[in-house]
Amino acid sequence: MNNPRPCYLQIAIDTPLNAVFDYRWQHEPPQIGQLALVSFAHREVVGLIVGITETTEVPVDKLKDALAVRSQLSPLSDKWLALAGFAADYYQRPLGEVALPGLPKNLRVSTTVALDRAIKKLAKLDAPHDPAPANMPQLNASQQVAADAIGGAQGFKPTLLYGVTGSGKTEVYLQACAQVLAREPEGQILILVPEINLTPQLEGNIRARFPGVMLATLHSSLSEGERMLHWLAAHQGQARIVLGTRLAILSSLPHLKLIVIDEEHDPSYKQQEGLRYSARDLAVWRAWQLQIPIVLGSATPSLESWHHAQTGRYRRLELRERAVQNAVLPTVKLIDMERDKPSDGLTSQLITAIRQRMERGEQSLLFLNRRGYAPVICCESCGWISECTRCTSFMVLHRPEHRLRCHHCSLEMRIPRHCPTCGNVDLQPLGRGTQRVEEGLQALFPEARVLRIDADSTRKKGSAQEAFDTVHRGEVDILIGTQMVAKGHDFKNLTLVGILNPDTALFSQDYRASERLFAQLMQVAGRAGRAGIPSEVLIQTRYPQHPLYGAVVHHDYDHFASALLEEREQAALPPYLFQALLRAEARELATALEFLAMARDCMQHPGITINDPIPMTMTRVHNVDRAQLLVESPSRPALQAFLREWLQALRDMKSRVKWSLEVDPLDI
Ligand code: ADP
Ligand code: ZN
Ligand code: ZN
Repeated sequence: MNNPRPCYLQIAIDTPLNAVFDYRWQHEPPQIGQLALVSFAHREVVGLIVGITETTEVPVDKLKDALAVRSQLSPLSDKWLALAGFAADYYQRPLGEVALPGLPKNLRVSTTVALDRAIKKLAKLDAPHDPAPANMPQLNASQQVAADAIGGAQGFKPTLLYGVTGSGKTEVYLQACAQVLAREPEGQILILVPEINLTPQLEGNIRARFPGVMLATLHSSLSEGERMLHWLAAHQGQARIVLGTRLAILSSLPHLKLIVIDEEHDPSYKQQEGLRYSARDLAVWRAWQLQIPIVLGSATPSLESWHHAQTGRYRRLELRERAVQNAVLPTVKLIDMERDKPSDGLTSQLITAIRQRMERGEQSLLFLNRRGYAPVICCESCGWISECTRCTSFMVLHRPEHRLRCHHCSLEMRIPRHCPTCGNVDLQPLGRGTQRVEEGLQALFPEARVLRIDADSTRKKGSAQEAFDTVHRGEVDILIGTQMVAKGHDFKNLTLVGILNPDTALFSQDYRASERLFAQLMQVAGRAGRAGIPSEVLIQTRYPQHPLYGAVVHHDYDHFASALLEEREQAALPPYLFQALLRAEARELATALEFLAMARDCMQHPGITINDPIPMTMTRVHNVDRAQLLVESPSRPALQAFLREWLQALRDMKSRVKWSLEVDPLDI
């Protein structure tokens, strides 16, 4: 048999080098979008075929043969490759670093056995394929309008579903999905949620509603085997609905017809390391690419999306009322901590309100966005405080574990018996975190079933779900938690929300702090009174006159958002301006700053502002000093063009300083 003429495969590999590599192939030509096994830097790695050519510029003696092509897997589509290509371009990363890490690990290892076995499993898992929904509740009028508008939309139609907490946005998504599934015989739907802890609730709803439809879930707590199975179900089109966290935005969905982004304002949609992408923004691009509808839902939309709705780029649909009969938004009251001085962190009004709930058999939720027992311990005789030796931050007291812990570098130590400076044995906790509040509550209400939910109490796999189930089963009287409990959950018997200590964020330097605080307060307040029992939210503050709290009291997102947008416009801040942040890390701060100064000076461009390098607010983490340089432009394309050239220049500097670029940074 004649060997076909050799061809050359252009293969994207997961490396920081900004390149696609050529390999020779002497067998039947494969297809673009297939995976190939190659040898790279003395290792066998799996890469993605992004081009096939008849010639190459690589000299013959440098050229290697590709080892194998993974033919069991159908190729990733052109559309998917274009999505990865767009993300790589936009976030200024090499294609391989974008395209490959999103694929299940088992596809990226050098053996093919694993792949065969999975694919076989999938055949067994095949569902009956009956898109008919079960038990559709009657929608109210505004829900019906929204569901029809979303479910019936054709072409690229971004919709902002602005619905107060408890207005039944989930039901709107589900009925819009039902319409799409019924209309598109093979159509797939992607639903994103910001937090892994929100997937079980929605997964349950979807399964109950669409018993005959295959649902795939994609999030970081799946085992590799599960991840592979679900990814393949999406890739091969069997899964009609894919539910996931931000990483699911890069899944392969050949028949995608609708995208749903729940709680679109949530900062968790932004990946904060490696490829720092916004899953929400990529979703909008993906919907545009495929010319399909997308819905972004929230009670507190991001200012970016609100701005798009105001300018008409997005269509706005509103749900002004809660869906459950007689359910109204909770009454929000401010407790002035100067007048009602708290003991153990709780004011007398809040304690009374909790006691009432206990008597009525209703649940209370206390929200404090600070885990641990106390943020710091100190010596009252010499002033020593528990600083981290490796970071610009404090060691947090974790009393139940008898440890001090740095939340930034994970440094841990036993609680010192006496002051390291003066020997005083009386070290005091300063301030309070969730553990300390839990302790105080238990002392105040010895008969109460108190449950704390935060990153510490839910470290074990599955324990967060277990904890939320306990609340839903009514086995908890008082729930205390961090932002983990604030989002999305539909607690039926909860009628009191107490918010402790939110004031610090009022005076943050971060221009997004008030947007975030407002959203957080509205979201946590929204956990109360969802089943129709009258409910209240009590906010303990030293600044009851602050306009932000006024807006929360009146549930007035509209005016607050418009006022913030006006401020942003006047101050020339996003969304009226586009930003990128260059970060540098070094042992010495001066080295990082020097590198950034060189970066600032190496290129100039009309329409681009390059600010001066500054140390990051938390300068030192794990013995590394960090600095940053902000680049801004009123034009996104101008910024993109500049970044492309600039990054090349930075790479050419071959500096030993570790640096990275973030486009559309959230934290600056
Ligand atoms: P949101 O996501 O807007 O905060 P959910 O979708 O969680 O709100 O809905 C809040 C509650 O309202 C849920 O318990 C849900 O079952 C209920 N619900 C939604 N739509 C309706 C409806 N049309 N009639 C009765 N109850 C509804
Ligand atoms: Zn001391
Ligand atoms: Zn540290």
